[in-house]
Amino acid sequence: MNSSNGSTPVSGVTDDALAGVKAFLFDLDGTVTHDGRVPAASLAAMERLQAAGILTLAVTGRPAGWCDLIARWWPVDAVIGENGAFCFARRGDGRIARDWFCETSDEARTRLGELAESTLELADNLAPAADNAWRICDIAVDFAEDVTGPTLDDAERVRARFAAAGAVAKTSSIHVNAWFGDHDKKTTATRVLADRFSIPEADQPASVAYIGDAPNDEPMFAAFPLSFGVAGVRRFLPHMTARPAEIATGEEAAGFAEIAGRLLAARKARPA
Ligand SMILES: [Mg+2]
Repeated sequence: MNSSNGSTPVSGVTDDALAGVKAFLFDLDGTVTHDGRVPAASLAAMERLQAAGILTLAVTGRPAGWCDLIARWWPVDAVIGENGAFCFARRGDGRIARDWFCETSDEARTRLGELAESTLELADNLAPAADNAWRICDIAVDFAEDVTGPTLDDAERVRARFAAAGAVAKTSSIHVNAWFGDHDKKTTATRVLADRFSIPEADQPASVAYIGDAPNDEPMFAAFPLSFGVAGVRRFLPHMTARPAEIATGEEAAGFAEIAGRLLAARKARPA
């Protein structure tokens, strides 16, 4: 399907279609980061999108503790975290609204912790994610953030172990995240766009663009036809069934800036 180098239209996204985008949703790790950090260029791209009247929503597997800061300090209108467990949105008065889409309990946290512990035997160097202390609803096993060695096949075995125990589990570029509940990035994004940003579900396919890099973005790639992968998504394609409509030339943050630039140019060029 992706035989050439460079920007590969899998099904393709036209500039005409991009001109109608009202909200740009994006994954964080591997998508707006470069070598594990957020370059100023990514934040500048978010600022330009907002200045052009395009809503910016981060949609990530990162924990509530991180997302609290992102919602307050970053140039985003909202952040959906822990793979759809919650949305923290900036209100018109500058305060932060917090909507929760998960149910959690001490028992569920304990069970997730036991399950995560049991996955560590599946490969050498798997570890509890360093950001687990700031999570409310899910738990994460690190296979590629602070550890080296585990492969994507190892991550898949971790995911399958959680799934066999009745948890939902998704793999990002660095972690396998697991939780109890029926939410994911897509179910929460769809609700938030409708309820907080007045983009009804029926309008979302034409009004929303998304960019991500990993299997935990699959629900978004499946839901939104104006979907992109940064170049790094290619390494996950064999593990994915839902794929982005188009893959950027650039890796990580460079791919994010590339697609943000296309959105801005398309919007500028549209007839008044
Ligand atoms: Mg990612």
